[in-house]
Amino acid sequence: MYSRVLRFSRQEHTNMAITVKGNHKTNRLRWLFSHWDHRKVTTPHAIVAAGVVIALSMVVICAVVLYQSRLDAMARATEASRNLALLAERDIERNFELYALSLQAVVDGVNDPEVMNASPRLRGFALFDRAATATYLGSMLVLDAEGNIVIDSAGDVPRKANFSDRQYFKVHRDNPNVGLYVGNPYASRLRDGAPSIPLSRRLSRPDGSFAGVVLIAIQLEYFHKLFAALSLGPHGSVALIARDGTMVMRQPYDVKVIGRNIRNASTFKQFLLAPEGSFSDISTLDGVERLYYFKNLPNLPLIIMVAEAHADIYAAWQHRALTIASLMAALALGFIGLSFAFAAQLRRRMRAESELAMLARTDGLTGLNNRRTLGEILDQEWRRAKRTRSVLSLLFVDIDRFKMYNDTYGHQAGDDALAAVAKCIGDNIRHPSDSAARYGGEEFVVVLPDTSPEGAASIAEKIRAAIANLAIEHRASEYGRVTASIGAAAWTPEEDVDMSAVIRAADEALYDAKATGRNRVAQSKLRAAQ
Ligand code: GH3
Ligand code: MG
Ligand code: MG
Repeated sequence: MYSRVLRFSRQEHTNMAITVKGNHKTNRLRWLFSHWDHRKVTTPHAIVAAGVVIALSMVVICAVVLYQSRLDAMARATEASRNLALLAERDIERNFELYALSLQAVVDGVNDPEVMNASPRLRGFALFDRAATATYLGSMLVLDAEGNIVIDSAGDVPRKANFSDRQYFKVHRDNPNVGLYVGNPYASRLRDGAPSIPLSRRLSRPDGSFAGVVLIAIQLEYFHKLFAALSLGPHGSVALIARDGTMVMRQPYDVKVIGRNIRNASTFKQFLLAPEGSFSDISTLDGVERLYYFKNLPNLPLIIMVAEAHADIYAAWQHRALTIASLMAALALGFIGLSFAFAAQLRRRMRAESELAMLARTDGLTGLNNRRTLGEILDQEWRRAKRTRSVLSLLFVDIDRFKMYNDTYGHQAGDDALAAVAKCIGDNIRHPSDSAARYGGEEFVVVLPDTSPEGAASIAEKIRAAIANLAIEHRASEYGRVTASIGAAAWTPEEDVDMSAVIRAADEALYDAKATGRNRVAQSKLRAAQ
């Protein structure tokens, strides 16, 4: 019997794990509670957390990239506006330079008596070169000091009209130093109200007094055509504005807007702050938010403005961003869902694993620790007792006349009695560090760390009495009921002593209990604890 100590056979294990009894469940819960590895429990949470963090990082990276491409769209639009403005500026400056030269030619011709004394036809040739026939030139006129037409590019006989009320006339009349004057739009009286802007110079007599005005009327049609050719997107706009705020031309074209003064508009105020620049604002004319690029033409009192609607700038971006963002959101949600599913799966698996581990550690019939676990517990407690120099007590419990019980009541009843006795033992060890195990057959071992011989004896007596008090009928026993004998041993481990010594001592005490009449507790005489 002694030699069986801590030798474990596979057969014994399978024999023990027969059925699960009532007390098994509570023991199982107790076991689960004490052996649940909290680091393992946190793993599924960590997986979900990692999943969420990765998904969020993906979303954040996507948002940053989309935001960057939004900025790129704006930068590209600014560049495109600048290029359009430059294109228009070049065209306008070149044409105005030609007109200014033609104007100067007329001024020079008028001051040349030889030209003026020539026949009206020749004079016309000399004064108005081929520029007079350019597509967008309205009229070239020479006005006298009273504002009447004296020379007309349209024919040898000047048309009858007086323009002394026009702004350009008054400007030159009142100020000899204006030079080349670019006026605001007006409706031409000679050409059925066709909108035009004047380009004019003063004629002075040798004494410096006012002699009249030379005028070129440029049809606004020129700007209209020029701007219409620029591609600006469905909500874009391009405009030419006089420096005093008068709208010279705007695309999309609206006749009501031409000549309107916008000097109070917030956008216009910004045009005056720098030679050129860009900003975003909401148009006072149509309420559309636009990116404005403006440039003050260096040689003319005009401002060119190119505005592209934000809606147009971001249209392509918006479409792309929406697609990518929704795909990314779906991906992130899917990823989070997957990590939840994975965590749940892992949790199930871990639970199953711990249940298996629990089953591997407990005895199937009684729910107590099995012999393998007992070996671990003894090992651990022996080492602890050695370390702390404390007393380790052990109880060996053996049911009396159990073979006869089986013979009398049958094996099944024997199993039930075994389970009842096991539960009774379990119920009578309350201290958390105490543990009970089924050693094999109808034998149990109770490990009582840090317990004195007296303490161990009193627990043993309590267990013995409790088993007897179960009052399970046992006709063949001298006590008429199921009883158990208990051997108790207490030991303070020393370096040179093997743990099997204490087991042997308890086993021998049990033998004593059996020999002296059963249903009793016997203490080991081999070695008393110090
Ligand atoms: P005593 O200990 O009082 O000297 O007599 P005993 O009859 O209990 O002695 P022994 O140890 O020889 O007998 C143990 C018996 O316990 C043998 C077997 O019939 C019975 N037994 C062992 N394991 C089980 C089990 O799992 N179920 C049942 N029903 N009986 C078992
Ligand atoms: Mg026995
Ligand atoms: Mg027995």
